[in-house]
Amino acid sequence: MDFDLTPSQQELLCRVAEMARDRFAPRAADYDERAVFPAEDFEDLFREGLLSAVVPADYGGLGLGPYSGDVFTLWMITKELAKADLSLARCWEGHSNSLVLLAGLADEKQKTRWFEGVVKRGEKWVAWSGEPLSSAPGEKSSFGTRVEKTAGGWHVSGSKVFCTSAGGADWAILLVNTEGPGGARHASASPEGLLMLACDLSDATVTFDGSWWNPIGMRATVSHRVCFDRTFIPEDHLIGGPGQYLKDGWQTCFIPHYAASFLGAAEGAYDYAMEHLKRQNKGGDPYVQQRVAQMALNLETAHLWLRHVARLWETGKYEEAKLAGSRARYAIEHLAEETVRHSIRACGARSLNRPSPLERIYRDLSFYIRHDNDDHILSMIGKSLLGQPFDPSFYKP
Ligand SMILES: Cc1cc2nc3c(=O)[nH]c(=O)nc-3n(C[C@H](O)[C@H](O)[C@H](O)COP(=O)(O)OP(=O)(O)OC[C@H]3O[C@@H](n4cnc5c(N)ncnc54)[C@H](O)[C@@H]3O)c2cc1C
Repeated sequence: MDFDLTPSQQELLCRVAEMARDRFAPRAADYDERAVFPAEDFEDLFREGLLSAVVPADYGGLGLGPYSGDVFTLWMITKELAKADLSLARCWEGHSNSLVLLAGLADEKQKTRWFEGVVKRGEKWVAWSGEPLSSAPGEKSSFGTRVEKTAGGWHVSGSKVFCTSAGGADWAILLVNTEGPGGARHASASPEGLLMLACDLSDATVTFDGSWWNPIGMRATVSHRVCFDRTFIPEDHLIGGPGQYLKDGWQTCFIPHYAASFLGAAEGAYDYAMEHLKRQNKGGDPYVQQRVAQMALNLETAHLWLRHVARLWETGKYEEAKLAGSRARYAIEHLAEETVRHSIRACGARSLNRPSPLERIYRDLSFYIRHDNDDHILSMIGKSLLGQPFDPSFYKP
C-alpha cells in the first residue's frame, strides 16, 4: 500500500524488511525452541544503526516517535520485525518504548548519558511494571515490590514478572509504587505514588528467575521473574516527576505499537499461507479464494487504522490519538487473530506441525494479545462514547 512515505522512509523500511527476512526469520524457531533472548538479532540491529531509531537526532539517533513527527515509520519497522519473529518485536518494542519515555521525560544529563550508551555501545532498555497481585491456581510465589526512600535515592525490594528481555537488556525502567506492590496497575494508590526508576541491570542485587517462565508462546521474550534485594537506585535515576507516567497518559503511546506487532504476526501468517497454497496449487478452490481475500482485506484495514492513528500523533492531535490508539488496538487484535485462523483453515493440519512458522505465530499471538483484556478495552471505548469517565491507558474493569 502507498502511504506517501518519503524515499528515505521507504529505504529504511526496505532495509529492515530485508534484514528481518534474511537474518531474523531463520533464527526465530531456534530462539523459540530454546526460549532464549534474540541476542544476535539485537547485535544486527545495533550494527545497522537501528537500535537508536527512537533516540532524538540531536543525540545521534533517527528521531522516530509519537511526539517527534514520525511514528508511522517506527510502527512499520516493528511490523517487519514481528513478521519474522513476534518475540523479537516485543523485546524491540520494550526497548523503543523506553527510549520514547527517556526522550519525553529525562533531563539533559540523563539523556546525554543514556542515549550515548544506546548509540555507541548498543545498550538495550526495557520497562517493567508487571506486578499482578492475585495469584493464579498452582502459582507458588507471589509478586510485588516495595520502595523505601533512603539517603540519596531509593531501595527497591521484591519481585516483578513478565520482565521482557530479562538477562538481555542492560537497563530497565522500573515502574514502582511508593504505596506498595502493584506497579503502574496499583488498584488504589494516588498517581503520585508511581515512580519511574532507571535500574542498571548489572547490579548484583538484581537476579533473574527463569523457572517461572514456561509459556505457550512468546518464549524468546524471556519475560522472567526478576528479584530485587534492596537494590539501590540513586536519585538522579528518577525519570520525570512522581506520577507523570499516569498523569500524561504515556501508556497510550505504546498501545498502537502493540497493534503494529499483532499486524506483523498476521502478515507473517498471510505470507506463509500464500506460499503454501500456491505450492499446493489450491488457488482454484472457491473457499480458499475467499479466505485469501478476507486475509488481505484484514491486513489492509489494519494498515489503514495504524496510518490514521499515526497521523493524529504526527499532527499534534494528541487527545484524539490517545483514544484512537486503543480503538485501533482492539480492531487489529481481532483482525490479526482472524487472519491467523484463516491461514490455518486454508493450509490444514500440516501447517501446525513443527517446525512451521504458522504454528509459532499461532502460539505467540494467542499469548501476546493477552497483554491487555479486549473486553475491558471495548468497555473503555463504550464509556468514551457514552460520556462516562474513561482511562485510555489502563483498562480497569
Ligand atoms: C509476552 C508478554 C510480555 C510482557 N512484557 C511486559 C513487560 O516487559 N513489562 C511489563 O510491565 N509488562 C509486561 N507484560 C505484562 C502485562 O502488561 C500484564 O501485566 C500481564 O499480562 C498481566 O498478567 P495476567 O493477564 O495473568 O494478569 P491479571 O492482572 O491477573 O489479569 C487476568 C485477567 O483478569 C482481568 N482482571 C484483572 N482484574 C480484574 C478484576 N478486578 N475484575 C475482573 N477482571 C479483572 C484482566 O483484565 C485479565 O483479563 C507482558 C505480557 C506478556 C503476555
